[in-house]
Amino acid sequence: MKQRVIIAMAIMAHPKVVILDEPTSALDVITQANIMNLLKKLKWEYKLSYMFITHDLALASELADSVAIMYAGKMVEIGGAEDIYGNPSHPYTQGLISSVPTLRIDKTLSFIPGEVPSLVNPPSGCRFHPRCPFYRDRDYLKGLCDAKEPPIVEIKGKASRKHLVACWLYK
Ligand code: SF4
Repeated sequence: MKQRVIIAMAIMAHPKVVILDEPTSALDVITQANIMNLLKKLKWEYKLSYMFITHDLALASELADSVAIMYAGKMVEIGGAEDIYGNPSHPYTQGLISSVPTLRIDKTLSFIPGEVPSLVNPPSGCRFHPRCPFYRDRDYLKGLCDAKEPPIVEIKGKASRKHLVACWLYK
């Protein structure tokens, strides 16, 4: 009920954009589904745009047209939802997607080893390098990923939006 009241207060002034920061955290799955349905209904009814901030990629897929993935305070991949979910390209996004359980596809769930770094003293270069499987396995990335921050490059995507990745694998 608190979530519903806050959502009502947020749209009272007829905004064009609503920022939703973890709007369904701490809710059980049934109430979460109800809130998501309410948000979808309001989106069409009031022609709203949402900035939906979440750690739950599966949940974001219900609403998102564009997705930006952040790791340790840095944007690592941005693109249309079709590209991010259908062709995740940054190793961190790939790890996130492969850890989401699905009902329709039989797949082995994986996980991202290690832990989120401290932002007080973040890793040098690419902040994901201590956990990145490509950095571990490919010698040519040593001295690169751990030394220089990767630039953001555009890669070929299917969606009409640009597909951008910050990773040395694409440079
Ligand atoms: S820049 Fe290097 S460490 Fe970072 S995600 Fe890409 S391959 Fe992995």
